[in-house]
Amino acid sequence: MDIMICCICHHAVEDNQGSKLTVKGCSGINDASLKRQDNVQAVPGNFVHIACRKTYTNANVIVRDTKENLSPNT
Ligand SMILES: [Zn+2]
Repeated sequence: MDIMICCICHHAVEDNQGSKLTVKGCSGINDASLKRQDNVQAVPGNFVHIACRKTYTNANVIVRDTKENLSPNT
């Protein structure tokens, strides 16, 4: 039996928390990965937590996260 791993957070995905990625789903995540200058690479057939994908690909969250990275305001 395969263990499903979320390609965003790399934790195990429980049956009802996950979503199997299609080509379209992947391009959204890979696009977000580029914007975040992240090294997440989604491949069709990979699994993600629905919650992870929502957050990861959310434009507002991307802006917030990348701002935090660019200006470490201590
Ligand atoms: Zn996840």
